[in-house]
Amino acid sequence: MAYYTFLSFVIILYLYGYFHLVETRRTNDTEKYNQYQCFSTLSDKSDKFHTKLLRPLLIKRVSGTRGNAQVRQHIISTLQSTKIWNIEYDTFNSVTPDGIVKFTNIIATLNPTATHRLVLACHYDSKKLPHFIGATDSAVPCAILLDLVIYFKQQLAQRKQNNKYPTLQLIFFDGEEAVQHWSKTDSLYGSRHLATKMRNTNVQGQQDLNQIDAMNIFILLDLIGNKNLQFVNLFNRTTGKYYKKLQEIETQLLRSYDNTEHQQAIFSSKAYNYIIEDDHVPFLAYDVPILHLIAVPFPSTWHKLSDNEDNLDFQSINHFRNIMKLFLKKYLHIKKQFC
Ligand SMILES: [Zn+2]
Repeated sequence: MAYYTFLSFVIILYLYGYFHLVETRRTNDTEKYNQYQCFSTLSDKSDKFHTKLLRPLLIKRVSGTRGNAQVRQHIISTLQSTKIWNIEYDTFNSVTPDGIVKFTNIIATLNPTATHRLVLACHYDSKKLPHFIGATDSAVPCAILLDLVIYFKQQLAQRKQNNKYPTLQLIFFDGEEAVQHWSKTDSLYGSRHLATKMRNTNVQGQQDLNQIDAMNIFILLDLIGNKNLQFVNLFNRTTGKYYKKLQEIETQLLRSYDNTEHQQAIFSSKAYNYIIEDDHVPFLAYDVPILHLIAVPFPSTWHKLSDNEDNLDFQSINHFRNIMKLFLKKYLHIKKQFC
């Protein structure tokens, strides 16, 4: 009898364990599904992104001009409104084909003592062409960075002093564009200057760690905002796993959308082994792992007057914003319920 009692006990225990496991799995799957489901319904349709963050950037902002200073002020005051960023400026003069120009990079770091950093970057200057606005180049990318950090401001504020996970650093470069014709000396004024400076500056409180070596990954956004946006995996060896993570997030999101939202994948499966010259190049030279999120092929509006607000596609912009939010949440281990 005791044997059968024992056997029944074992069977009950087994069945309990089995159903409990199934139930837990079901809950996890539902949570995962809900996360994307909620996310797609909550994505910001209020137009705040467009009017408050992006539109102030959609002016001529050639390095060294009033428009450039005005946009810089917009970026700074938006960051300051969250009261969580340690903001530094890298201001310098450089000789250009049109004479000496004053440039200013903006560097915002959540925790300047952190020894591991996720860097998100864009350039806020516009090319020196008559009436050129450069909506995708790179007003939209910079607005997306501002949107990301405003969205997570509470979670990032709690994270500020935490050294367990990587911190977040934002870089808004000045002087990416050539003053006349793109060359090694006439382009990337801001990034060339800042990469050298960071290489020679230690992380706050660290004797042997410079600011370049503290970068886990450097993600550069450029030429984003047109319809038919496509990215390709440009640094598969070093950051391919992150590119694939972005692809996975995108697949889940596309499944959760209804048919009023973006439908096509923007992260293609193509992997190319070439370098598109941009602000990451001076950092790449110091072996920083790079994720270059730039439209390939370039938008048809590239360096044309038509790179303006009228030719932006907000469906794909919103879709990309969603992907970046989920990526950041995952990378920084942010706990935020989307609904
Ligand atoms: Zn450009």
